[in-house]
Amino acid sequence: MAPWSDRARDVALARTAEASTGGAAPPSTDAVLVPRSEYARLLHDVRVADDRLAEAQNRFQRLVETMPGVAYIAQPGEDGEWLYISPRLVELLGYEPAEWLADPTAWIGLTHPEDRERVLADEWQWSQRTGGVHTAEYRILASDGEYRWIRDAATARPGHGPDAKALWFGVLSDVTESKEAQAASLRSEQLLRSVLETAEDAFVALDAHGAVIEWNRRAGLVFGRAREDVLGCDLVTLITPHRVRPSDALRLHELLSTGSVDAPATREEITAVRADGTAFPAEVTVWSTGVGSSVRHNTFIRDITERTQLRDELKTLAFQDDLTGLANRTSFCGHLERALRRDDADASTVAVLFLDLDDFKTVNDSLGHPAGDEVLRVVADRLRTLVRPTDTIARFGGDEFAVLLRAVAGPEEATAAAGRLSLMLRDPFMLQGRRIVVSVSVGVALAGTHEGALVTALLRDADAAMYQAKRSGKNTCVVYDPLMHVQALARLNLKADLETAVLHGELFLVFQPYFAVAGGALVGFEALVRWQHPTRGLVGPADFIPLAEETGLIHPIGEWVLQEACRHATAWPAAPVGGRRPTISVNVSAVQFQDPDLIATVSAALRDTGLDPHRLVVEITEGVLLHKVDQVVTRLHALRELGVRIAIDDFGTGYSSLSYLQHLPIDVLKIDKSFVDQLGLGADDSSMAKVVIHIARTLGLQVVAEGVERREQHQALDRLGCDLAQGYLLARPLVAGDAATLCAGPLP
Ligand code: C2E
Ligand code: MG
Ligand code: MG
Repeated sequence: MAPWSDRARDVALARTAEASTGGAAPPSTDAVLVPRSEYARLLHDVRVADDRLAEAQNRFQRLVETMPGVAYIAQPGEDGEWLYISPRLVELLGYEPAEWLADPTAWIGLTHPEDRERVLADEWQWSQRTGGVHTAEYRILASDGEYRWIRDAATARPGHGPDAKALWFGVLSDVTESKEAQAASLRSEQLLRSVLETAEDAFVALDAHGAVIEWNRRAGLVFGRAREDVLGCDLVTLITPHRVRPSDALRLHELLSTGSVDAPATREEITAVRADGTAFPAEVTVWSTGVGSSVRHNTFIRDITERTQLRDELKTLAFQDDLTGLANRTSFCGHLERALRRDDADASTVAVLFLDLDDFKTVNDSLGHPAGDEVLRVVADRLRTLVRPTDTIARFGGDEFAVLLRAVAGPEEATAAAGRLSLMLRDPFMLQGRRIVVSVSVGVALAGTHEGALVTALLRDADAAMYQAKRSGKNTCVVYDPLMHVQALARLNLKADLETAVLHGELFLVFQPYFAVAGGALVGFEALVRWQHPTRGLVGPADFIPLAEETGLIHPIGEWVLQEACRHATAWPAAPVGGRRPTISVNVSAVQFQDPDLIATVSAALRDTGLDPHRLVVEITEGVLLHKVDQVVTRLHALRELGVRIAIDDFGTGYSSLSYLQHLPIDVLKIDKSFVDQLGLGADDSSMAKVVIHIARTLGLQVVAEGVERREQHQALDRLGCDLAQGYLLARPLVAGDAATLCAGPLP
């Protein structure tokens, strides 16, 4: 500060002297005699000038000290020094001006090591010229131990005198905050850049005209185009060549041009094209941002090939049956609904055929599920070849199929179609070396017969008709009749009533005898259950045993039958001829046979009634043998150990092999009625009954013919060497009293 005020005074004094002498040599107090009055005036002037000067200096100093930043005057170079630094240095860096001025090189020691070299090089270069404003930014260590970012803006002015060095007049200001903000924004920009570079989606930024300005690594991979090749190119032309994909080009163009700045992102699926010309489904997400007065479009482009494939697969899965490739129920219902909507144009109508394979469970149980699946595929293929392209075939699951026939004239045409289908399906084919014959029960429902023709109503009715077809002996076709609906409801009610049937004592047994074919002696009785329903009257087992199996009521019912049958049998006397007491056969259903308590139930019945175990025969159907084989064999042995004998009922309808039967502990084969029916018609020697009798002989089993209705059948059985016969020809099922009477001698 001192040199500054001395000089100012020198200048001021010189100017004052010049004015008084008219521009002559500088005044000398010794040489010039000035009159006293003049001297006084001069002295006064000098004092006034001095005061003005002091005041100007004061103002100037105040200005320097109040302005933001720290002003300084310095002489650069190795022997340079700080000539002045304003007091705000304390605020800026926490140092007193005096200590700063005292050590000319201290500042460089305080400069951040990373900035030092740059600052010195800069200073040297700049000190070579004068004029202009030079700015530099660097960090200086403040007295609190923290670095501050300083902006140093200085200008060089030549010094006075021939050898005088240039002086620097500068201002230091604190730019730490803006520097940090700058660094932070740089960091976040770098972060954004690295995120976009590593993004799993292609990121492409476009200028207001749609030209590419950013193209990340992924975009390069997705489109097979390098960044340098696409910068400046029009994106729409690049990825949706108008010539190839005009509609996609238009959609992408619209997507890019409709988004306004800061509006939410918009998204569109298009088909995009790679550099090699291959196309792929892409999802384009666009959002626009303002850059100054212009706009920038940012896009994420995702290759959605996998997602689209998955979506298509799901769509297929949702509407297609996996096993056969036919439509599934959902899809069928959709077709049906559409068909019904269109079905008023002419006299024709829509028909639904509901197909259920007969005895499919037997195929599954005896040949295994893979074979069952194969049968279903064969059925599907045959159905496909039979229906018209306008018709729809579906598999509803299990062994249920449905066919939708459009433009059907009436029930006759629908049943004719059903007839053709079932005939074609019956055509035998080979599977695992066996000849398989598939028969179906078909239910038919026509739209015209329904009010409103609702999809669900139509399906329900076709189902009810199919159920009816099953009941009336399978391998048939039944057209829906409103009465069936009533029957279906009745079945539901029956189920509910069955709950209390045992408790209320509504069940009773009848006994159908069986006799030796040769000689006709009474050998035993088969117990057959009946239900005396309080309002419906007599209900047969075919009507309620399946319901009992569905509800689990078969267990208490089966237990009751066993107890009741054994109890009756104990009272029967020995037959007068032959002297043996009749055996009692009890039917055990498949569900009942799975019951782990079966052995306990049977032995309890024997114990409770005191029946000789050898007089009890348990009848199971062939199907039972084919399911969970190990468990079945164990159970059969356990029954045998009780002394009970085992008969296979309805034999010949399943697929059990001879070698398999050989290893099972069984005693009796009962030839199914359907085979007995064919006897006495002239082909007995090639009959199935003959085969079964032969098998029984081979295995040392007793053989019984069921359902013998005609004398010729009985004669044939005699000839073929069948042991026992049962059927209406010989005796109908008898009430308990009649059975007991029969034991004593032939009924009157
Ligand atoms: P199933 O064991 O094969 O019994 C033979 C069925 O054929 C009986 O019918 C019998 O009345 C009938 N039948 C006998 N001879 C002739 C004939 O010459 N012509 C005709 N058309 N039919 C004849 P039902 O009593 O109606 O029994 C049907 C089926 O219900 C039985 O077939 C059996 O599987 C089952 N069932 C009967 N009672 C019981 C039972 O107490 N428990 C179980 N689980 N099932 C039973
Ligand atoms: Mg039976
Ligand atoms: Mg039978």
